[in-house]
Amino acid sequence: MDENELEPVFAEVLLDHPSRQLDRPFTYAVPSSLRGRVEVGSIVVVPFLKGHFIGYVLQLSESTSLKNVREIERVVEEAPLFGRDSVELCRWMSEHYLTPLSQVFRLIIPPGRGRSLIEEVRLLMPVEEALPRLHSRSAAQREIVEFLAKEGGETRLSTMHVKLPRRNLGSALRSLEEKGVIERSFKLSRPHTESLSRSMAKLERAGRDVLRGMEECGSSTADGLTPLQAAALHTLARHGGEMPRAHLVQESGISYGSLSSLCRKGLLSIRDMQRKRDPFAGMSMDIMPEVELTEEQRDSLSSIEGCLKERRHGAFLLHGITGSGKTEVYLRAIRRTLEMGRSSIVLVPEIALTPQMVQRFRGALGDTVAVLHSGLSVGERYDQWMDIRDGVCRVVIGARSALFAPLSDIGLIVIDEEHESTYKENAAPRYHARDVALRRAQLHQAVLVLGSATPQLETTFLTGKGDLTLLRLSKRIDDRPLPRVEVVDMRECNQPGIRTILSNRLVNALLAVQESGEQAILFLNRRGFAPYLQCHSCGYIFRCELCSVSMCYHLEADSLACHHCGSMRNPPFKCPDCGREEHLFRGVGTERVEMELRRLLPDLSCLRMDADTTRRKLSHWRILEDFKARRASVLLGTQMIAKGLDIPSVTLVGVINADTSLALPDFRAAERTYQLLTQVSGRAGRGERPGRVIIQTFSPDSYAIQACIRGDEEAFYRQELAWRREAGYPPFRRLVNMIVSSPLESACQEATTLLREMLDDCLPPKKADLLGPAAAPLSRLKGRYRYHLLLKSRELEGVMDRLRDCLSSFEKAKPSLLKRHSLKKEDLGLAVDVDPASLL
Ligand code: ADP
Ligand code: ZN
Repeated sequence: MDENELEPVFAEVLLDHPSRQLDRPFTYAVPSSLRGRVEVGSIVVVPFLKGHFIGYVLQLSESTSLKNVREIERVVEEAPLFGRDSVELCRWMSEHYLTPLSQVFRLIIPPGRGRSLIEEVRLLMPVEEALPRLHSRSAAQREIVEFLAKEGGETRLSTMHVKLPRRNLGSALRSLEEKGVIERSFKLSRPHTESLSRSMAKLERAGRDVLRGMEECGSSTADGLTPLQAAALHTLARHGGEMPRAHLVQESGISYGSLSSLCRKGLLSIRDMQRKRDPFAGMSMDIMPEVELTEEQRDSLSSIEGCLKERRHGAFLLHGITGSGKTEVYLRAIRRTLEMGRSSIVLVPEIALTPQMVQRFRGALGDTVAVLHSGLSVGERYDQWMDIRDGVCRVVIGARSALFAPLSDIGLIVIDEEHESTYKENAAPRYHARDVALRRAQLHQAVLVLGSATPQLETTFLTGKGDLTLLRLSKRIDDRPLPRVEVVDMRECNQPGIRTILSNRLVNALLAVQESGEQAILFLNRRGFAPYLQCHSCGYIFRCELCSVSMCYHLEADSLACHHCGSMRNPPFKCPDCGREEHLFRGVGTERVEMELRRLLPDLSCLRMDADTTRRKLSHWRILEDFKARRASVLLGTQMIAKGLDIPSVTLVGVINADTSLALPDFRAAERTYQLLTQVSGRAGRGERPGRVIIQTFSPDSYAIQACIRGDEEAFYRQELAWRREAGYPPFRRLVNMIVSSPLESACQEATTLLREMLDDCLPPKKADLLGPAAAPLSRLKGRYRYHLLLKSRELEGVMDRLRDCLSSFEKAKPSLLKRHSLKKEDLGLAVDVDPASLL
């Protein structure tokens, strides 16, 4: 035998345990029995201290300098679940976002898996063969063997614990295993999913004959059938002869028993059909005619194709005004990528948007398109994940997390509407999709295309530095003009004591739309009826008991709700200060606008789309379908309608209150406002008829609003950049926001101060400014107080390592602090946000 083959092979294994102390791979030996079955991406069970852990194999090596290396116990998942490129990506994310590696890894393993181990026990021989081998006095062993035989030869250990509750079960199992009578194995839990098979009812020939007979004699029933049975046959025929049994029962009113008797008569049959959860089920596809690209589109595409052809990494900002044909460019680039045998990822900001995009992409590219987003059940996501891994789907569309789809050989990553705040994850790892996409594209020698009409300030800045190549689409398709933007100064509309929600100008414009049969979009970034409920006599404002915000009144639900923690309060709303129950509704939400519309324009039909009307799956899509089919003249909604909609008959866009986002105490408030207004304005005039935009505001002079009215993008970026430079915000400074939270305010304050002292000791002098401790703008959330420290630095290089050390020390100091305040472990949290999207 070749001597090398005796050489033990070692594996670097990351434990599935999100703690900073265990946050590094550990070396394990691959025992000869598992040689060749352990690969990068395998999931294994390893011993650690006194227990067992799930681990991910990150790397294999020939040798190690370590002594006393323990062995991998089992391989759980044979086919690798990730490749070397993903290992690289996760390492980078862990460093960049100061997050434990194992926490990052949870992003790349299949949804719903890898959370827990299931141990199975299997009988290896017939029971009569097994029994003679047992020690005659061991009742436990005998019972186990008999139990296994009864269960069909195998069962889960957990089941056995329940059904054979014996104290010596463990040792009995061990000795059975040693005797070779049973085998024990581990599996990863699979996602809990609804049943994958369903019963279908099918009309048989005899059934058709009976129906024909009824038709011929003009009767609605037939001999030997109850009226409901006859109705069931009719229903089935109407559905083309086959439909799910449950639907048949529901629609015809027949009972299951009565249905079975039809079955016995041979008039219909019931069979189980395996189905794959198809997230597209019931959705139409938009097949668009092939168009000829405009010159600007052609130029952009050829730059992208240039990189693709040479298989080299490139990054582009496709800066194109709304309606300039960006999506068309993505589609062509993806098609080209597919032709080269490579795969693509397309990120879209919000689930509400995905249906339209999905329809369009499916129409153009077909079945190779998979969808991944959080609106799907775990089972649906799991199915899609597997299709992607197995190469059935080569194009993935989805929200942020689709970035981690298990594609091989990625050629292109597109981020549509790259300025959207949803691209920033707000739980650890708090990554930004743009930055991770750039990294993943580099690892695959792939092309990254960021598309937006209003790029994020950081992104334009990168373009200026030459890290991104700028591609411009400056004209709308067919040179359609951008809509005319008008502003209504609401200070002039409001008389004392009377709150005007819809200005005359907007009401008249809506009337005109209604008369001409066109459509309008009304935008307000606040759901519910009124953001505050205030006591009429003493002025008390109802606040959330858990958060430092007021509660919003919802008319339909007749309740108060906190939009941060979701807690609700039902009537009566008795003022805790004066005991009265008379209230004022303060502020305006979408429900109130809807009511006001009905009062002023009773004949105008309106669809409302916000988080309250879209709780059910696909309800976004249904509302949009209704609007597209012109079943309503107005679509009223929150930011979920602000982008992406491409509906030619929309000629009017109304912004109910442009100030809602402007007033936020956050450094991105102006940028967000400018982006939102520009995006929502862009929904108007995408067809033949020119568009009109009416913006209602109390601060018409703000530069964000002014720039939008004048369509002067450059003025906005110039002013915003000047302000950011002066105030020391991104892109001129990198920020790290550290938020400490606790139900006990004193502990929260003390911990923040402690962290500050640690940072003062270890950060390199002059490289970073540290602000705080201070209460966060949202000073209390879900019952926890929030204090923060803000680090500002020109360059995080050299700062990150120190920061990481500090966080570890802080972790170590935590127990004594907790003890002093008699708190539990989870009562003190630290969230570290690198490059935060907001500082709330
Ligand atoms: P964006 O993504 O920039 O908002 P889209 O790609 O959605 O723009 O294009 C806007 C509309 O113009 C769509 O209806 C699209 O089908 C159409 N379109 C795009 N490119 C062309 C073209 N070259 N010729 C004709 N119509 C086009
Ligand atoms: Zn709350």
